[in-house]
Amino acid sequence: MSKVPFFSTQLANAKVDLQAPVQRVLDSHWYILGNEVTAFEREYAEHVGAEHCVSVANGTDAINIALRAVGVTSGDSVIATANAGFYSSTAILQIGAQPVYVDVDPLTLTMSKDRLKEALETCSPRAIVVTHLYGQLADVEAIVRIAMDAGVAVIEDCAQAHGAMRNGKAAGSFGTVGCFSFYPTKNLGALGDGGAVVTGNAELAARAKQLRQYGWDKKYHVAISGGCNSRLDELQAAVLRAKLPYLDAWNEERRAIARRYNAAFARLPLRCPQSVDSDYVAHLYVVQAEDRDDLRRFLSEHDVATDIHYPVADHLQAVHGRSTRADALPATEAACRSVLSLPCFPGLASDDVAHVIRTVLDYFGARP
Ligand SMILES: *Cc1c(COP(=O)(O)O)cnc(C)c1O
Repeated sequence: MSKVPFFSTQLANAKVDLQAPVQRVLDSHWYILGNEVTAFEREYAEHVGAEHCVSVANGTDAINIALRAVGVTSGDSVIATANAGFYSSTAILQIGAQPVYVDVDPLTLTMSKDRLKEALETCSPRAIVVTHLYGQLADVEAIVRIAMDAGVAVIEDCAQAHGAMRNGKAAGSFGTVGCFSFYPTKNLGALGDGGAVVTGNAELAARAKQLRQYGWDKKYHVAISGGCNSRLDELQAAVLRAKLPYLDAWNEERRAIARRYNAAFARLPLRCPQSVDSDYVAHLYVVQAEDRDDLRRFLSEHDVATDIHYPVADHLQAVHGRSTRADALPATEAACRSVLSLPCFPGLASDDVAHVIRTVLDYFGARP
């Protein structure tokens, strides 16, 4: 048995003709902000069900630009969760704003609406970043309602949730702005970095377009502050256009693997993903285990690659120095100690899924 990989770009991209889109761009001799980017933005907006899509260089920039577009500036507070890999924290801190972390729901590991309500009693944030972690839609309708009552913008971090749907609405279409990453391992991945913001608000889309290109309103005329250079290039846009038609089928393939795992692990002392329906696109299949490190070692010894998303909570990262304390976010900190991600990606062989299942059952001595 060869090693079961955690992810494989080779397997994930196997069905796609990548030569044709790359050749098309080579033949066009046009590399930045051209027809491919314009077409991808139109096609991606349609897939999300949002009016506007503005492509950018990566997912972190998407959050940064979304925050600036809704008016976040230096000194503002922004509410976020602390279990999502520091990406939103990076964007918030880049602006000189202050992340205010609220705890997650211990079952879904996405933002707790009750903790959010409590936080809003003592702080007046300029925005809330809600992360659809692991591909699971957060309790986003309730969070948007709470935010609207408080007059606060909601930025959805959809970097792990391309195509996740609830009641006919897709990730990125609930809040004020949705942010996506097209990093190669994401559910829709480029051959390099890429990102996008989507919104139903024409004014915010226009601001995002200015912010991604130096703050220009027209060439060489800088109209707004906070601008940067953050563009998706034509090659990546062409590749993403070739891959977008496969996204829904790939999400279904990921979910089918997650369903097999959930069914096989139902009786084990593991907490498995709460939903394997369309509101979960199985970007990561994450279990919570009390003896996570032992289980991880056992899987590694039996040729199953795993990962931990994420081992350190944002508020406890060394970069903050000693300014934050442990136990501030109990559910978040418990998750950091117990989460373990198993292989789950399109193209993963059925035999490999069976091997992962067998190995996990063996570990718990529960092989039928
Ligand atoms: C990957 C990721 C990002 C950042 O995307 P990049 O393109 O790597 O900058 C942001 N948020 C979440 C939840 C992610 O998984």
